[in-house]
Amino acid sequence: MYEFDTIAAISTPMGEGAIAIVRLSGNDAFRIIDEIFQNPSSKQMSDVASHTIHYGHIVDPKTDKIIEEVMVSVMRGPKTFTREDVVEINCHGGLVSVNKLLQLVLSRGARLAEPGEFTKRAFLNGRIDLSQAEAVMDLIRAKTDRAMNVALGQMEGRLSKLIQKLRQEILETLAHVEVNIDYPEYDDVEEMTHQLLLEKSIYVKEELMKLLQTSQQGKILREGLSTVIIGRPNVGKSSLLNSLVHENKAIVTDIPGTTRDVIEEYVNVRGVPLRLVDTAGIRETEDIVERIGVEKSREVLKKADLILLVLNHNDELTYEDKQLFEAVKGMDVIVIVNKTDLPGLIDMEEVKRVALNHTIISTSLKEEEGIDELEEAISSMFFQGNLEAGDLTYVSNSRHIALITQAQQTLEDAVEGMESGVPIDIVQIDLTRTWEILGEIIGDSVHESLIDQLFSQFCLGK
Ligand code: GDP
Ligand code: ZN
Repeated sequence: MYEFDTIAAISTPMGEGAIAIVRLSGNDAFRIIDEIFQNPSSKQMSDVASHTIHYGHIVDPKTDKIIEEVMVSVMRGPKTFTREDVVEINCHGGLVSVNKLLQLVLSRGARLAEPGEFTKRAFLNGRIDLSQAEAVMDLIRAKTDRAMNVALGQMEGRLSKLIQKLRQEILETLAHVEVNIDYPEYDDVEEMTHQLLLEKSIYVKEELMKLLQTSQQGKILREGLSTVIIGRPNVGKSSLLNSLVHENKAIVTDIPGTTRDVIEEYVNVRGVPLRLVDTAGIRETEDIVERIGVEKSREVLKKADLILLVLNHNDELTYEDKQLFEAVKGMDVIVIVNKTDLPGLIDMEEVKRVALNHTIISTSLKEEEGIDELEEAISSMFFQGNLEAGDLTYVSNSRHIALITQAQQTLEDAVEGMESGVPIDIVQIDLTRTWEILGEIIGDSVHESLIDQLFSQFCLGK
């Protein structure tokens, strides 16, 4: 275990709530709390049993003034998140008194924690591996319940386990090859070695491919499914937006890089986070195509993960409608035939023809009908009914995606090399490289500066 100084930070619990926590970790945590904490039975926190919670007051020893009424949790290392002695001071006061409390703790010798430093210690003290540490970061940022489950699964080390297994396979293969090379007098050794290398490389490559296939879903879970509502004026776009926003809990938007002129609304539809893009524009001018021009709107459309194309049940299918279908060709589209409470003037057979294989949902937004079906369609389209159980290992972190892609590419080079008769020692180098790249995911053999960079992205107090 490493020797560190004692750190402190305000660490607000997940979700909303009036409780704030000042967290301390390190050798001086108990000493500091004993200097500033008074409780009815005059217990010393350095003496009480580990993992117990105590009521009392925080008192400034210099002025003898009571600062806060608090609950203090005492957790002795190594059975803590950081493996160090940890004290958590829970107070219900506002920001001002929490800050005062933090200042007091710092004045007694703690140092203000850097962003992510608690998690970094957990990593450096061997409590968690790097992919688990990153999962903590994802957890903090998780926007929906489902995104949370992914983060939790990763934290439990599912991704780590799979990566470790693949690395083990590679290592064993390399060992076999070494043995074979050491005993070249046996018959067919070269042929066998070649065969073994090829089989294992293809196997690992395919496992990595499967992992990558889930990564797109992982990205969407964290960032939201970018969704654009299109349709002629007056078909019910704004009404659709409003009903999606009102029926579902809106998600707080604190995603970096959100520009001010493009307003995005987040809603959670049955676990699928939708990022409704450019809705302000749609609201104001009724028509995204008209407002920003055909070319620009094509660009916006191209970036979308999901298009909701709205038609009017109470009107014939027009040339404009058909142009919209043309513009979203090849994309994920749900066709919504709205205003079914009014007489049907649209030719549904024609709609089916132009909609090709897109899902068609009939709604009356006015009568609040068809919204359930629409939500079901969105959810099943995205999850394809098979991601629900959470038995898949998601890769939701862009650093992991980059590394897995790199590993997979290296293996592909190796396989190609073998097929064109490259010497075995070259192939060995590729496999070793793959093993190293995969190691970076779980924090084996990572460079110190990489560690610093990663942990500095964390929120303060975690
Ligand atoms: P947008 O121009 O596509 O955004 O359409 P709006 O959402 O602004 O709706 C245009 C008009 O159609 C408004 O008066 C809505 O109240 C009305 N409307 C929307 N949905 C329905 C529906 O399902 N049935 C009926 N009868 N009217 C609707
Ligand atoms: Zn509108």
